[in-house]
Amino acid sequence: MPSISFEFFPPKTEEQRLQLDQAAGLLKSLGPEYVSVTFGAGGSTLSYTGETVARLHSEHGLDVAPHLSCVGGTRAELAELLDSYRAAGYRRIVALRGDLPSGMATPGDFRYAAELVRFIREHSGDHFHIEVAAYPEIHPQADDALADLRHFKAKVDAGANGAITQYFFNADAYFRFVEDVRRMGVAVPIVPGIMPISNYFQLKRFSDACGAEIPRWISKRMQAHGDDAASIRELGADVVAQLCRRLLDGGAPGLHFYTLNRARATRAILDRLHG
Ligand code: FAD
Repeated sequence: MPSISFEFFPPKTEEQRLQLDQAAGLLKSLGPEYVSVTFGAGGSTLSYTGETVARLHSEHGLDVAPHLSCVGGTRAELAELLDSYRAAGYRRIVALRGDLPSGMATPGDFRYAAELVRFIREHSGDHFHIEVAAYPEIHPQADDALADLRHFKAKVDAGANGAITQYFFNADAYFRFVEDVRRMGVAVPIVPGIMPISNYFQLKRFSDACGAEIPRWISKRMQAHGDDAASIRELGADVVAQLCRRLLDGGAPGLHFYTLNRARATRAILDRLHG
């Protein structure tokens, strides 16, 4: 089995904390290489990521990768955070631009993820393994597809060791992206980001916001199940497991699951892959 990793978001309530603990406990048995924790846009949630990675590291014994974004962090704040992560023994960072929340005027000291990657290298040398984001279906704000590929390459040139993709349901988009960037001389591993489907309407909302395309045949089949949650989960697990199988057969170096802090849908996919 190739390497797998799981992404969590920082819980904000006691109930969410319990849910994350439960998910982390269940998913740990699947042997992830590491787990990552998102960094919510806006300085106010800055500390939640740190607290959450600390808990996953110390209480669950997991290797962690905090996400870090340009948004809401000055150079000095980001340097402090990097130093604290280094002191805690973490070796991996997911470096992003982040999205500016509406109403927030100052984007922080860095404008693009490539600048953040360069800063991490300047500040922390080679201590951290740096992952960056990749968009097989093209980032929604990119001027055009070619510019997006060039901007992706700039992050690798700035020092990123690997990339995790935005989720997608079309394997060809991934294979094409990998082929294009290899032709541009990018050699780092590009791990597909996998979104389990457990709630179709939530997925639709996310996908509209981040530019991921849900193929018509998946939408139509999901809609046909109406609010029958069990059937949607079954169909979702089948469809996504099939996608994972195709990606791995085609050479994907691993799988990164967007767990949404729940174990069931991710486990259902991995059970099918192992079975
Ligand atoms: P960049 O690589 O900086 O690119 C952003 C856009 O700017 C692209 O359209 C690119 O083509 C363009 N661009 C880049 N450089 C230039 C340049 N020099 N000139 C002109 N245009 C340029 N968001 C969060 O807030 N917190 C998270 O924890 C988080 N985790 C994520 C994890 C993964 C695996 C992924 C795929 C996304 C995640 N995101 C997260 C979302 C991400 O922050 C957004 O998609 C954001 O809009 C872009 O981030 P980026 O790092 O890809 O930005």
